[in-house]
Amino acid sequence: MMTNQDIFQRAQQTIPGGVNSPVRAFKSVGGTPRFITRAEGAHIWDIEGKQYIDYLGSWGPAIVGHAHPEVVKAVQDATLNGLSFGAPTEGEVVLAEKIAELLPSIEQVRLVSSGTEATMSAIRLARGFTGRKKIIKFEGCYHGHSDSLLVKAGSGLLTFGNPSSAGVPAEFVSHTIVLDYNDIDKVKKTFEEVGHDIACIIVEPIAGNMNLVKPVVGFLEGLRELCTAYGALLIFDEVMTGFRAGPKGVQGLTGIKPDLTTLAKVIGGGMPVGAFGGRKEIMQHIAPMGAVYQAGTLSGNPISVAAGLKTLEILSRPGFYEKLTSATEALITGLKEKAAKHHIAFSADSVGGMFGIYFRSSIPTRFAEVHESNITAFNTFFHAMLDEGVHLAPSAFEAGFVSACHDNEVLNKTFEAADKAFAKVAAL
Ligand SMILES: *Cc1c(COP(=O)(O)O)cnc(C)c1O
Repeated sequence: MMTNQDIFQRAQQTIPGGVNSPVRAFKSVGGTPRFITRAEGAHIWDIEGKQYIDYLGSWGPAIVGHAHPEVVKAVQDATLNGLSFGAPTEGEVVLAEKIAELLPSIEQVRLVSSGTEATMSAIRLARGFTGRKKIIKFEGCYHGHSDSLLVKAGSGLLTFGNPSSAGVPAEFVSHTIVLDYNDIDKVKKTFEEVGHDIACIIVEPIAGNMNLVKPVVGFLEGLRELCTAYGALLIFDEVMTGFRAGPKGVQGLTGIKPDLTTLAKVIGGGMPVGAFGGRKEIMQHIAPMGAVYQAGTLSGNPISVAAGLKTLEILSRPGFYEKLTSATEALITGLKEKAAKHHIAFSADSVGGMFGIYFRSSIPTRFAEVHESNITAFNTFFHAMLDEGVHLAPSAFEAGFVSACHDNEVLNKTFEAADKAFAKVAAL
């Protein structure tokens, strides 16, 4: 039988690091990534035939559960009509209408193939619309891997960022200002100094890429007020939170209306789809209507659109989010109980179908606080859970995802595994 170790070794011969996206390589937790052969409902199976309860959910998209029969059927049906045309289809129109219906801040939307494309294009549009150069992002928020967003905080009050990746010239990020998440005073000061040069703020309205970190009261409200006052655009990057934190994303939960929204993950239902949208007046600046160029050979791909549409239809059914939210709350409550039983410094938080677990005694509100958690404890817990057949995100800095298929039986098995895993942490 082929083992995960065998295939991982082989993979590293022809694929850098053996993976096609770095976090999959288990670098931060150590050990061997599981090579997945199939998934169904709340479970995934690796190449050794071992079954796991899955809390990765493909990093978010698998919200209705893996291989949902209706989604699979929609995809199968669509494939019979051809895989891609490079010409418009009715499905794209229906998906655009559905997104606009679900997210009232969106009047018009353009489909792309990934979250990275969505954020990159939304920022170009914000710059084209305002005629300004500078953008604000927050430390710990991830917006894909385009050049101007691969940046970490520098030093000094007006923190122009430093590239966080080799291959990104400092000049390319010289218009990106990096500030602390949840620190509205810094944002205010920055606007007072260079507010009329700022094209946009891009923010994860609930952060899910430094583990789960929620906005403190007043943060998003403050961003909205400052953008309005200075004529900058507010971009909510809801690639992760859109249709995951709630049926209308974080904008639905908070009532705060961004100028532009970026989406991906759930809206593709497991196929590659991204989107950016907002007020028509802004969206009209994109080619072919306007001067901001943006294009894609496979944008609005009919198979992806079919998967996305069916997924959005399923999660629009009555009771979907109530059930998902209560399963996620039950998960973190159960985990906290087991941690307490073993006297582990542990906290957890959730919103909709996403959650964060932190090996520290209180829920973090900033990037620096997330980094104060006990990484050794997390890594021990992660591997113990994996041994017990529970697949968490392989990093202390990632959020977790629950699907509509995570029922009581799945949760109870998770708690049994966690009981043993926390015991190993306690023995460290
Ligand atoms: C995943 C993610 C992205 C990038 O999306 P890709 O499809 O991986 O390019 C951007 N923003 C946020 C908030 C994300 O979670």
